[in-house]
Amino acid sequence: MADKPADERLRITEIFHSLQGESRPAGCPTAFIRLTGCPLRCVYCDTEYAFHGGARMTIAEILDGVAPFAARYVCVTGGEPLAQPGCRALLRTLCDAGYEVSLETSGALTIAEIDQRVTIVMDLKTPASGELDKNRWQNLELLKSEDQVKFVIADRGDYEWSRSVLVERALSERCSVLFSPIWGGDTARELAEWILEDRLDVRFQMQLHKIVWGDVPGH
Ligand code: SF4
Repeated sequence: MADKPADERLRITEIFHSLQGESRPAGCPTAFIRLTGCPLRCVYCDTEYAFHGGARMTIAEILDGVAPFAARYVCVTGGEPLAQPGCRALLRTLCDAGYEVSLETSGALTIAEIDQRVTIVMDLKTPASGELDKNRWQNLELLKSEDQVKFVIADRGDYEWSRSVLVERALSERCSVLFSPIWGGDTARELAEWILEDRLDVRFQMQLHKIVWGDVPGH
């Protein structure tokens, strides 16, 4: 993919400062850039407010929005960030600026040609998401050992599906694997116990920012 000019505009829902709620730097102060738009409609989506609207900003303006937080970590999220063509240029520019950059993506769009300095946190959509057929399995071949695959698990059926994928695709040999209970459900304790019973090589995680602030935008 050709490089995008630094004055390319992206549609941004919000730029905010919070604690990283998920993945390896969980608990660390992080600047978040939420890109507008997503081609998926997961039944449990907690960011429907990012489907539409937003403000068109240049990459330079986005960096200006992030700078006051003086954060070491920057997380580009959505929506589905990769749905906007300028996302790769934004990621590269953030890396060039010295940030430790992560990308949260649905796993439905290609992760090819993303700057190798970016840590990718990629979902694999489970049956209960309603978007199982959107998983782009070719992406697994493109993951780096520092990247992470995340399963959001709503029930026992999701768990068994995720466990099968984990084993059949040898995911733990590729990268870190996160099993996360759906927010607001009652599966957290069960999921923790299933993981221990089955001796799975995965990381259980809860969404830390929601435990602290609840499920509200801007955190
Ligand atoms: S991929 Fe993410 S933003 Fe898009 S519908 Fe699913 S949960 Fe929502």
